[in-house]
Amino acid sequence: MRYSQSLIPTLKETPAEAVVASHRLLLRGGYIRKLTAGIYSYLPLGLAAVRKVEQIVREEMNRAGAQELLLPMVQPADLWHETGRYQKYGPELLRFRDRHDRESCLGPTHEEVITDLARREIRSYRDMGKNLYQIQTKFRDEIRPRFGLMRGREFIMKDAYSFDVDDEQSENCYQLMFDAYKRIFTRCGLDFRPVEADSGTIGGSFSHEFMVLADTGEDTLVICSSCKYAANMEKAAVKAPAADDAPLLDLEKVETPGKRKVAAVCDFLDIDPSELVKTLVFLADGEPVAVLVRGDREVEEVKLKNQIGAVEVEMADDKQVYDATGVPTGYLGPVGIKVKLLVDSEVAAMKNFTVGGNEKNYHMKNVNIGRDFEGTTVADLRQITKDDPCPECGAPITLREGIEVGHIFKLGTGYSEAMEAYYKDRDGEEKPMVMGCYGIGVSRVVAAAIEQNHDENGIIFPMPLAPVQVILLNLGINDAEISKVAESLYAELQEKGVEVLLDDRDERPGFKFKDADLLGIPLRVTVGKRLTKDGVVELRQRKDGSTEELTPEQLSDRVLALIDSAMKAAQ
Ligand SMILES: [Zn+2]
Repeated sequence: MRYSQSLIPTLKETPAEAVVASHRLLLRGGYIRKLTAGIYSYLPLGLAAVRKVEQIVREEMNRAGAQELLLPMVQPADLWHETGRYQKYGPELLRFRDRHDRESCLGPTHEEVITDLARREIRSYRDMGKNLYQIQTKFRDEIRPRFGLMRGREFIMKDAYSFDVDDEQSENCYQLMFDAYKRIFTRCGLDFRPVEADSGTIGGSFSHEFMVLADTGEDTLVICSSCKYAANMEKAAVKAPAADDAPLLDLEKVETPGKRKVAAVCDFLDIDPSELVKTLVFLADGEPVAVLVRGDREVEEVKLKNQIGAVEVEMADDKQVYDATGVPTGYLGPVGIKVKLLVDSEVAAMKNFTVGGNEKNYHMKNVNIGRDFEGTTVADLRQITKDDPCPECGAPITLREGIEVGHIFKLGTGYSEAMEAYYKDRDGEEKPMVMGCYGIGVSRVVAAAIEQNHDENGIIFPMPLAPVQVILLNLGINDAEISKVAESLYAELQEKGVEVLLDDRDERPGFKFKDADLLGIPLRVTVGKRLTKDGVVELRQRKDGSTEELTPEQLSDRVLALIDSAMKAAQ
C-alpha cells in the first residue's frame, strides 16, 4: 500500500469529542471518521485492522466446528413479538415500518431470526448439534453513544448460536466456545480475563464475559489473588457476615435537624457510617422498591434487578421518593415504610443500627430487624468492594478495569419454547432445542487493543491486529538512490509476504516519523541520508523504541524474524 494512494487523513489536533484513547487515536490516525452520532466509516487502515480480528475469529470458530452464515439485518417485528422482546428490549431496538406498513426492526442481535431458521430447517435429533455464526453489522440505538468504536450505535459483531439436544451437549458446546474465545483473544495479542458475568437482557442460566484489561475500562472486574475466581463486579457475590449477637437496645428517636446525608448524620450522632443503614428507593419497571444497605455501601442495581425480576431499575428522584413514601429524602427509614422492602444480607446480620426516622429532621437509633420492622426479603444486593474477601476462597481480591470484548451465554430453552423450535428425539418425542449464544464485538476488539496498547505519541498495535506489519519511510523522495532502495525494499518485503505501507509522500522526515508513531505500525523502516552516507537503513520497533541499523540486503530477513517471533508470542 502506498501512502500517497491511500486515504489516511491523520490529524494533528485531538477532536474535542474524543475522551478515551482509542477514540482519539482512531480519529487522529485516520482510521475512522464519524458520519453521525455513534456511527463511523472505517477508512482503509481501520478496515484492515477489523479484517485482522475477523480472520482470527473465523479461523477459530471454524476450528471449533461452527459454520458461518449470514442473516438479514432487517427483521420482521412478528418474530420479536413471539419472544416478547419487541416491547421488552426497550428503546435500543430501532423499530420502523416499511412501505407496506409492516413493522420491522434493525437487528441488534439475532436470536429470533436464527431460532426461526432452526425451527423450519431442523426436525430430527440427527440434525441437531449445530453451531452457526455470522460476522455482521449490528445496530443498537444507544441513548448516549460515546467513546468511538467502544460504544457506537452501529458496530461489527460476530454472533454464534448453538442448537443442541440436551443440557449436556449444550454445555459441551459452551466449553468449546469458551476455549475458542481464549485462543481468539490470545491470538489477538491481548491481555484478557474470562470472568463470570450477569446474563442481562438476553437471559439464560450462566455466562462468561471476556474482558481486555485496560486503565479506561467500562467495567470493573473482581480478580482473586489466590484462586481462579474472576467476575464482573455486577455479578461478584458478597459473602454474608455472621450475625451480630449483641443484646437489643431500646429504640430511640433522635432529632437530626437538616442532616440528610450519611456523612452529616454520622458526624452529628458521632457514629461510623458502618453503624448506619441507608434506605434507598428505586423504580423497578416503574414500581417503587426500597433497599436497605449499610451507610458506607452501594446497591448493585444488577443484583437488585435480578432479585426482583425487573427489566429496568433506576434510582428514584426526590419527588418520586416523596410520592411513594410521604417522607422527604434523607429521612427515610424501614420502620413503618409503605413500599416493598428488600434487605441486603450484610444489614440482616446487624444489630442496633441507625436509620431515617420517616419524618423530617429525625432519625432512629438502635433499630433491629424483626422487632422494629419485618425484613422479609434478604439477599446479596450490594456492590463488592476491594476490602471484601473472594467469595470462593476468602483470599483478598483486587479490582481491575476491563473492556468487554466477548460474551458467551447458555440460553437453555427460553427462546426455543417461546418460538416452538422443537425437534423429534430418538423416541419420536418433540423436545425444545437447547440453545447457547456467543458474541464477539469485532470492531470493539480493535478499540480495546488500542486502550491497552498506546502511549502519548499514538497507537502501539499488537502485531496480529496491526493493519500492516511494516511502515517503510522513504525520506528522499527527490533522491534517486534513496528512492531506488526504498522501492526495491517495498517490492522485496511484499514478495516475502510482509504487509507494508510505503510512505512515499513528499513530506519532512519529522512529519513522517510523527505519523508513523501515531499509526502504531509495529515495525518502521527508514531509508534516508544514512543510506547514502553509510549504506544502512534503520529498523525501529514501535513497542519499545529499539532501533538497529542494517544493510538493505539484511533487512527483509530481520523483519521476517521479528514478525515471526511477535506472532509466536501470541499463540
Ligand atoms: Zn479466591
